[in-house]
Amino acid sequence: MKTRFPLLLVLVTLATTACAEDKKPAASDKSMIKPEVTLSEQEWKKRLTEEQYRVTRTAGTEPSFGKVYEEFEKQGEGTYFCICCGAELFTSKEKFHSGCGWPSFYDASTAKNVLERTDTSHGMVRIETLCKRCGAHLGHVFEGESISASTPTKRRFCINGVALNYVPKGGTAPKLLELGTSAVEKKKEEVAKEAGVEVKKP
Ligand SMILES: [Zn+2]
Repeated sequence: MKTRFPLLLVLVTLATTACAEDKKPAASDKSMIKPEVTLSEQEWKKRLTEEQYRVTRTAGTEPSFGKVYEEFEKQGEGTYFCICCGAELFTSKEKFHSGCGWPSFYDASTAKNVLERTDTSHGMVRIETLCKRCGAHLGHVFEGESISASTPTKRRFCINGVALNYVPKGGTAPKLLELGTSAVEKKKEEVAKEAGVEVKKP
């Protein structure tokens, strides 16, 4: 009997978690990934266009075969950085023509800034891809399809073009966005408190 109670507890906990997740939009458990860069929604809105904000900060999807995709198809050698924080995400080496209407890569760059996690929104189980530094929603990764069968990984990172900042080979990489202002202020207060210094608030 001893083992039954914890098992029941686990099952109840799982069921509660599953229900809670169903009610929340996909973006709501972003706190679980603890990104380094944490700006407020207002700060992100100031930095991004409406479409970039909708896709990256609210887990949106851009229309397929749009203008951004057309540009992506024409782009040559280069690197793709996060539109939100400047982290390196993909390079043209891993790019392939999938014909799906969204920028496609078969692998993330060696910078390893692309996180993967299960996404159960819209009644589907998919693997969502996010920027490790700032938690930006990038798109999804699909496996075992015929369109990626000829790639080395047999995977398709289906990415929203507006989430990417393309820099051609030899170009200047974007400046990495540092910690959010609110996070920096909090850190300053913590340091000052430890040092026994009183922080004057404006
Ligand atoms: Zn980012």
